[in-house]
Amino acid sequence: MLVFRATLSPAPCAMDKAFRLCGLIIVLAALLWPASLLAQQARPHSILVLDQSDRRGPFYYQVFTGLRAAVSAHSHAPTTVYTESLDLNRFGGAAYQEGLRQFLEAKYRDRPIGVVVAIGAAALELVLRWHSQLWPDAPVVFALVEERDFIRLRPPAAYVTGGIVQQKLDDAIKAARAVVPNLSTVAIVGAEWERQVLFRNWKEQIAAGVDGMHVVELIGRPMSEVLERVAALPRDSAIIYSGMYSDGSGNYYPPSDALAFIAEKANRPIVVPAETFLEPGGIGGYVLVPSLIGADAARRALRILDGEQLDAVPVSIVDVVKPVFNWRQMRRWNVSESSLPAGSEIRFREPTFFERYRWRAAALGAALLIQAALIAFLLHERHMRRHAEVESRDRMSELAHINRQATAGELSSSIAHELNQPLGSILTNAESAELILASKNPDLDEVKEIISDIKRDDLRASEVIRRMRSLLKRAPFETKEIDLNQIMRDAFDFLSLQASARNVAFYLQTSPEVLRVKGDPVQLQQVILNLVVNSMDAMARMPYGRTVIGRTEVNGSASAVISISDSGPGIPQDKLNEIFDPFFTTKEQGMGIGLSIARTIVLAHNGQIWAENQPGGGAAFHLSLPLVAQSTQRYFHRVEGS
Ligand code: ADP
Repeated sequence: MLVFRATLSPAPCAMDKAFRLCGLIIVLAALLWPASLLAQQARPHSILVLDQSDRRGPFYYQVFTGLRAAVSAHSHAPTTVYTESLDLNRFGGAAYQEGLRQFLEAKYRDRPIGVVVAIGAAALELVLRWHSQLWPDAPVVFALVEERDFIRLRPPAAYVTGGIVQQKLDDAIKAARAVVPNLSTVAIVGAEWERQVLFRNWKEQIAAGVDGMHVVELIGRPMSEVLERVAALPRDSAIIYSGMYSDGSGNYYPPSDALAFIAEKANRPIVVPAETFLEPGGIGGYVLVPSLIGADAARRALRILDGEQLDAVPVSIVDVVKPVFNWRQMRRWNVSESSLPAGSEIRFREPTFFERYRWRAAALGAALLIQAALIAFLLHERHMRRHAEVESRDRMSELAHINRQATAGELSSSIAHELNQPLGSILTNAESAELILASKNPDLDEVKEIISDIKRDDLRASEVIRRMRSLLKRAPFETKEIDLNQIMRDAFDFLSLQASARNVAFYLQTSPEVLRVKGDPVQLQQVILNLVVNSMDAMARMPYGRTVIGRTEVNGSASAVISISDSGPGIPQDKLNEIFDPFFTTKEQGMGIGLSIARTIVLAHNGQIWAENQPGGGAAFHLSLPLVAQSTQRYFHRVEGS
């Protein structure tokens, strides 16, 4: 190809003088043309990568990974990649280099190489030296070479191309300013300048002074000293790390390991020049991305293998530096994302709880929302139900009141009679007293006796009026602890006069226990009155044997049962349930609401009411009401104590 390029350079073909020379050139070109074409056509699809490191460090490993990935992606022409790590950072000298040369010569004697890739300036230097001897036909592609090395080595453009890498101190300072506001000092930590691969150019810049910045140069210092110094840096300072390879006393380590030691002790953030220095403790900066370096070299090599001329793939500065920062270190040094240079990439960002558990959090949120909606709905429903209950109780109270008024109407004649009796005797007694007092020698003891009779009759009349009043009282539904036995006694007393007027015998058998229930006394009394009046009504046509028996008893320990039974005709078997329906009546003047109200009242007291026919004849109504547990215990206690 070289020859071909030389021969095609403009030839001075003067018609007269140079005809012969032109002819000679044409003949030579004709002879050489097929050979050069053959060399190009026959260029083997293989790349030999010579890497100046030992490739165990993460940076060179990433360079190679990037190269490998780019070659694999180039699927239309399978290409073999050979790699050799020359380990030139640790080994050098003529003997070692000669040994390497012989090794490579022997190893690749029968392996034709299409392109040689040299990674690093030290590798490029050797490749240039060995080229004519080992791979005279193979173009060379270099990578990871800085501008100063490129100028120093002056690789011949005829068979060498590659990417020049620039890593500027200015960028490192810019990154340091981003992570440390009011930056006034930078500590530059690294191996001796001569051993530095890419940062040798910083030396002069630092010597010339960095704009308004105090620079602490920790270059080529032993590790122990570096650790001490980085732990005691002033507040407004940052560390710029360029890579250390030894501890200064004979021990070598990969620069990322050295960085980890330094990061542990450093009291300020460490700006780093390479992507692979982020993980060991660098806060970030404008970092070299090694995989991009490898990929650029691979792309150049593949274009050459695909037949492109070398001058179509010229040497250029490659864009392999990106602003990348380490989230963990940002948090450690309290650096906000907004202070980073525009377009910065942030690595190792720990996802927030919501990012990490997005779906689960969304599901949980949805479940909570549904649950909240359900609870709100249930609360609303409960409120509505309560409202409806209160409404229905009010209605029931009103109905009950009407029913009581009707009962009072029914009882009015006997009540009038009941009132007449004490009022009559009061009048008689008063007249008698007048007569005694009008006599000459009034018997005052007798007058006293008469007055006490008047008082008793008055009390009796008052009691009748009180009962009547309580029956006619229009009161809202309200519960309190009451004794069912007392309620039964009151109801039977109330109706006793009517019973005798209607020729009905009353029997009341109350349980010896106090039957404490929670309820509305007026309404419960109304239930009993209804049942007893119904019994008396049912027996109205019977000539004799009219009996009503009231009974209270404890059922187990949880409820009390009241029974009202009569000796009447009973209830037709098929009407046993119907009688509790509103407006069911068999009476001429009946309203048919007495039992329906009784059932509503009992249900409102969490009780039950039912009717049956007795085997010996007559109807029996039972209602059970829950006892207040405490009162039962109180009763038993009393019995034990008595
Ligand atoms: P009313 O008394 O206005 O008829 P109730 O609801 O109090 O309304 O009674 C409904 C019906 O139940 C009565 O008409 C009657 O047929 C029947 N009934 C109620 N109590 C008895 C009873 N002790 N014996 C026979 N039938 C009864």
